[in-house]
Amino acid sequence: MIARCDLHIHSALSPCSDDDMSPGLIVGLAKLAGLDFIAITDHQTCGNCEAAMAIAEAYDGPVVVPGMEAESREEIHLLCLFPDLAAARDVEALIQASMLPLKNRPDIFGEQLLFNDDDDVTGRETRLLMQACQLSCDEIARLVLERGGVCIPAHLDREANSMLTSLGAVPPDFPTDWIELSQRADPDQFFQQHPDLAHYQFLVDSDAHHLSQIDEPGWPVDIQSWSGPAEARLRLLAALRPQSRQ
Ligand SMILES: [Zn+2]
Ligand SMILES: [Zn+2]
Repeated sequence: MIARCDLHIHSALSPCSDDDMSPGLIVGLAKLAGLDFIAITDHQTCGNCEAAMAIAEAYDGPVVVPGMEAESREEIHLLCLFPDLAAARDVEALIQASMLPLKNRPDIFGEQLLFNDDDDVTGRETRLLMQACQLSCDEIARLVLERGGVCIPAHLDREANSMLTSLGAVPPDFPTDWIELSQRADPDQFFQQHPDLAHYQFLVDSDAHHLSQIDEPGWPVDIQSWSGPAEARLRLLAALRPQSRQ
């Protein structure tokens, strides 16, 4: 079946996103938009994924995929999607262990808000999340794939933090069959300019930092039908996994 997806959404835990990007409002708007799947993908953290998953299940919202937008030491942004919270937290811990102990400056970078499953602010992440870690993009991809997730080069059409800008290419041995384009991209034009990428499948996500940016009607991904959120996450990830590495 065709699932409608927006797999790149920042919550208020990302300093660059609006403070009203609470898990509850994201889930509620995604439900109104008719999305089947969303992923919460904050910079270098999965700290609001648990709340979003609990709220979505309590209110019959879309399936929430725990995710993270990792920034590698090459300053490449990677869309990391996981089958469950334990896998996400595992990779988060390894990434954060390789980050510098810099403190966030909310007055400069913005607040980094943590929420519970009542959608209340429970705290603030004090470490600056807008920084690269010391793991390479290959190392991050390996950690994510080992835990049943997928690691997709993010917003390849953009200048900033794109694998194409940093490396000049998607290395053929980078373990993905999928790439992500931003909503600003014209996919036909993009693939004309990058014929070497023609064999990749692609996602277009909102990369929402404001509530109004959550995608409608969502990007279509063909997946097997499911009966509950846990199975749904596995089905989605099965569709996005590199086929040669199943
Ligand atoms: Zn990014
Ligand atoms: Zn992003």
